Amino acid sequence: MKKLIIFAVTIFAVNFTYRQAKDTDSRYIPLADSIVSIAMNKMEGYKILGELSKAGPRLSGSENLQKAEKFISEYMKGCGFDTVYMQEVKAPWWERGDQEICILKSDGKTDKNLSIAALGGSIAADLTADVIELSSFDDLEQKKDQVAGKIVFFNVPFNQKNLYTFASYGEPVGYRVSGPSRAAKYGAVAVLIRSVTSLYDNVPHTGTLRYADSVKQIPGAALGVQDAIYLSEKLKAGKPLQITLKMNCVNRGEATVHNIIGEIRGKSKPDEIIVVGGHFDSWDKGDGSHDDGGGCVQSVEVLKLIKQVIGRPERTIRCVLFANEENGLKGAIEYAGLAEKNNEYHYAAIESDRGVFAPLGFNIDADSATIARINEWLPVLRRSRIEWVEKGGSGADISRIKGARALIGYVPDSQRYFDVHHSDNDVYSAVNAREMELGSASMAILTMLLSEVGLD
Ligand SMILES: [Zn+2]
Repeated sequence: MKKLIIFAVTIFAVNFTYRQAKDTDSRYIPLADSIVSIAMNKMEGYKILGELSKAGPRLSGSENLQKAEKFISEYMKGCGFDTVYMQEVKAPWWERGDQEICILKSDGKTDKNLSIAALGGSIAADLTADVIELSSFDDLEQKKDQVAGKIVFFNVPFNQKNLYTFASYGEPVGYRVSGPSRAAKYGAVAVLIRSVTSLYDNVPHTGTLRYADSVKQIPGAALGVQDAIYLSEKLKAGKPLQITLKMNCVNRGEATVHNIIGEIRGKSKPDEIIVVGGHFDSWDKGDGSHDDGGGCVQSVEVLKLIKQVIGRPERTIRCVLFANEENGLKGAIEYAGLAEKNNEYHYAAIESDRGVFAPLGFNIDADSATIARINEWLPVLRRSRIEWVEKGGSGADISRIKGARALIGYVPDSQRYFDVHHSDNDVYSAVNAREMELGSASMAILTMLLSEVGLD
């Protein structure tokens, strides 16, 4: 008898969950289709990104950033949200300067001018030295007695075997971030890295370096991939080579930048906040359309699409354009700190910071019941070509938010992201309008489900 009751209860529960899922599907699939149709027909986000990109790249402290902040906050004010406001953030201020010279010399004569970009945060350089090529930090440890007085060249290629390119980013990026301090420990005078990119062009890719406190600071720069290969071949030929490195980049201290926030207050649960955001700053190469201007504009579009399709949502939906992700994460830290101080409750947060390519899935940091719940929404999410929902890896800017039921990273296709990332290739013309709008729609559909259906 007991077994029979358990069996009957289980059947009821399964049936109930099944019916609930079916109800969600029949109610929200037409709304998801409306979101996709509006995004694709109007292409508003794509057009706004075009306007935003005219301000140029948006590094913390730059005049471009000030112009871009003004543009986007005025645009958001015109969108009819309940409120638009800014939070002041203190951020590191680094400037590239106009001199980036890297001359390869053989027998004292110029062999080739190599294409470089200073790594973000690097000190200036004015030196000539011999070069030693290393393949890894293990290689550095083995040859530590040979690096004093030399330029260390970390030649670590992007592993093209990984299906998802973010898996390939992790290894070589370590040489960019900590290569200079690791090499300086053994007396190196500068570090060159092979650009962290999946492309075989000669455009250098910048990105942040981090100096260790206890070690002398030395300059760091990234070589274009073609020139990295060229240098490696020359070194293998065994001729003594020198490099002259001149860069006039400078650390200027601290700049005042802003988190830019817009929100639509929830109808029945205004105190349950769903954040959708990206980072508004960018490196000073290209115009930062993929990283992460596109993600920011998509986040603004989410609020617009929700407003148009469902009117006032049940929960509060807040778009946050975080300041200074690239060289400090100070915007994310400030935002989460203020939220905690003001006792705000974040129900969920979605971040878009993997380029604006065609939708694939969502990465979710949450307990397994919550992930299973979001998985049940796949029939609705598939209307914008989201294919999967998986555990882990949400995003840097939302990672500081405490107590949320789910932290979610929007995952578009990553095949071309590291072609453009942190380089002059990251420009508006490298953005596909349809892919971008499908991404906005994907984030809007998930936001709608989080707000209107909820995670219970
Ligand atoms: Zn980014």
